[in-house]
Amino acid sequence: MTRQRLVVFSGAGVSAESGLRTFRDSDGLWEEHRIEDVATPEAWRRDPATVLRFYDMRREQVLAARPNAAHRAIADLEDRFHVEVVTQNIDDLHERAGSTRVLHLHGEILKVRSTAEPTLITRLNGTSLRLGDRCALGSQLRPHIVWFGEEVPEMQRAAALISKADVLVVVGTSLQVYPAAGLIHYLPRTAEMFVVDPKDPQVGVQGAHHWKQKASEGLPALALHLRKRISDR
Ligand code: NAD
Repeated sequence: MTRQRLVVFSGAGVSAESGLRTFRDSDGLWEEHRIEDVATPEAWRRDPATVLRFYDMRREQVLAARPNAAHRAIADLEDRFHVEVVTQNIDDLHERAGSTRVLHLHGEILKVRSTAEPTLITRLNGTSLRLGDRCALGSQLRPHIVWFGEEVPEMQRAAALISKADVLVVVGTSLQVYPAAGLIHYLPRTAEMFVVDPKDPQVGVQGAHHWKQKASEGLPALALHLRKRISDR
């Protein structure tokens, strides 16, 4: 029997219980910083040293964090479903939990890229990126992060995945960061959507089944429900 295609669309909330703070839940600040000061191309032009320091701190936190029960439940679903994870997160907790197909819409904190050639992406040597660290072409390296106001290169690939899904699980995202939030509208009408979030979902997810729980409880419970449905067939 062909496996159902299950797409997990995750946001900062799935990593909250691993100790990585979300962003909406902190009054729109990211770890006490205004987005305009640390996560925009203008901030990078104005004060690259502050931007690098901010991402060095995020990297340290990510390296110290561990996947939680939600990341693990998502990875374990690969034994019964064809699972694709589309994440807005820049951490690698889905991969460390065992997920094998993870698309990062907003980049990856453990990688860096060339400021001259955006496709020149490498894993960072060490934990800290400095002014003067250069790519193979000789230009300054920057964090491999999609900053606010920048194009999201993986949008098309993510839309294609969601447009072929049988089941979409949306977890831990406020659906307020565009264009990523618009991806849920690519889900076919015949598909089902589940939302796992302790807060009420946005208008755009009407008709979805809402599991009003934290990710570490909701995801394992939802995974059990989805598995049971398969074995009852
Ligand atoms: P967001 O901060 O805007 O929204 C977080 C959502 O998670 C909210 O709906 C909240 O109710 C929910 N939530 C909080 N605790 C939860 C829990 N324990 N279980 C389940 N849900 C929980 O996050 P967003 O929509 O992902 O957008 C923020 C942007 O900031 C993203 O683009 C992302 O790149 C970036 N960011 C990333 C990280 C990370 O990589 N871990 C952390 C913070 C911010």
